[in-house]
Amino acid sequence: MPDPLDWLDDELADLDSRGLRRKLQVRCGPQRPERVEVGGQSLVNFGSNDYLGLANDPRVVAAAKAAVEEYGFGSGASPLVTGRTDLHAQLERKLAEFEGTEAALLFPTGYAANVGTIAALVGKGDAIYSDELNHASIIDGCRLSGAAIHVYPNQWAAGSRQEDCDRLAALLAAGQHFRRRLIVTDSVFSMHGTFAPLAALAWLSEDYNTMLLVDDAHATGVFGENGRGRCEEDGVESVVHIRVGTLSKALGGHGGFVTGSQRLIDWLANRARPYVFSTAAPAAMAAAGLASLESIEREPERRRRLLELALNLRGRLVLSGLIQPTSLSQIVPLILGEPARTLAATAELRRRGFFVPAIRPPSVPQGQSLLRISLTSMHTEQQVDNLVAALAEVAR
Ligand code: PMP
Repeated sequence: MPDPLDWLDDELADLDSRGLRRKLQVRCGPQRPERVEVGGQSLVNFGSNDYLGLANDPRVVAAAKAAVEEYGFGSGASPLVTGRTDLHAQLERKLAEFEGTEAALLFPTGYAANVGTIAALVGKGDAIYSDELNHASIIDGCRLSGAAIHVYPNQWAAGSRQEDCDRLAALLAAGQHFRRRLIVTDSVFSMHGTFAPLAALAWLSEDYNTMLLVDDAHATGVFGENGRGRCEEDGVESVVHIRVGTLSKALGGHGGFVTGSQRLIDWLANRARPYVFSTAAPAAMAAAGLASLESIEREPERRRRLLELALNLRGRLVLSGLIQPTSLSQIVPLILGEPARTLAATAELRRRGFFVPAIRPPSVPQGQSLLRISLTSMHTEQQVDNLVAALAEVAR
C-alpha cells in the first residue's frame, strides 16, 4: 500500500534540486546581534532584526523576569477572557501615547496583527491595493479577507517609484464601485530595505477616500526624530489610518501591535480573528515591551549609531559596485540572482566567520535571491570593515 504522504518525498526533492529547500538551524545560547553561535560555529551576526541590541538589555531582561515571577509564564486564555493582564493594558496605553493615537491593541505576533487586521477591515465586495513586495503576513491577510486584490508594482531598482504610484492611481480610479477600499504597504520592505513612497500613498488615500494601512515593522525605533518609524520620518502620521508594528525587531521582544483610533481598535478587538481566538502573549512580553519602549524614547543615540553604520556600509558597497544606491536603511541587500549562487556565497561567508542569511523565493521574487545583511547598533566599525572586505571577494 502506498503511503498517502509519499508525495512529500518528490516535493522535497524538487525543492532541493532548485536550491529552495530550507534546513532547520539550531542556535545555542543567547542571540546577540553582533555574535551568534549556530551549527557549532561562533559567527559575527549580520542576520538579526534586534536592530538596537535590546533583546539582551539587562533592563528588558529584568522586566521580563520580574513579570514571570509575578504572573507566571503562560497567559492561560484569549485576551477577551482572562489573558489580557494589566501589563498588556499598560503597554497598549503606552504604545498609543508613543505613536500619538487614541488606542492600540497587542497581538501574539506581527504576523497575526497583519493577517487579523486586514481580514477584519475588508471582505467580499471590497478591494485591496497591495505593493508587490509586501510581507507574507500582508499577502496572507489579503487572501484570507476575500476582497479583490490589486497588486501594484514595486520597481525599486528603477530609482523612482513614480510609475508604480501612477499605476496605483489608475487602479484606484478604475475601482470606485467597490464598497470599502484599503491601500496596504510595508514602510521598509523587509528583504530589500527600501522605503515605501508614503507621502504619495497618503495623498492617493485621501484623494480616493481609501483606508491606508502602513506596516512599520522594520522602522519602529529606527526612523523618525522620536523613533516612531517611517510614518514619523515622512510626516504622514496623522493621515495613516492603521499602523501595524512589531515588538520583535528593534524593540528586541515579541508580539505585534496595531495603533489607530479608538473605534478601529474596538472593531479589531471584536473582529480580528487571531486576536479573539489565540491565547494572549505572556505578560512578560508586555513587561519587556514597556522597558524597550522606554529605551527607544530615552536613548536616540542607539538609532543614530545604527543609521551611521548603515550609511558607512551602504556607501562602501555602492562604491565597490556591489549594491545600488537606494534607501539608507539598516537592511542591506546584495542581489546575487539565483539560489545556488546565493547559498554558495552564504556558505563561504560562514567559513570566514560571518552569518549573513541567503534569502530565496518565495521570500523574494524569482531571480532576485539575495544576501540580506542586517546591521545593529551593537556592531563595531571593525566588524563592518571586515564584512566589506569579505563581500568584495565572495560576492563578485
Ligand atoms: N511585517 C513585516 C514587514 C515583517 O518583516 C515581519 C517579520 N519578518 C512581520 C510583519 C511579522 O512580524 P513578527 O515577526 O512579529 O510576526
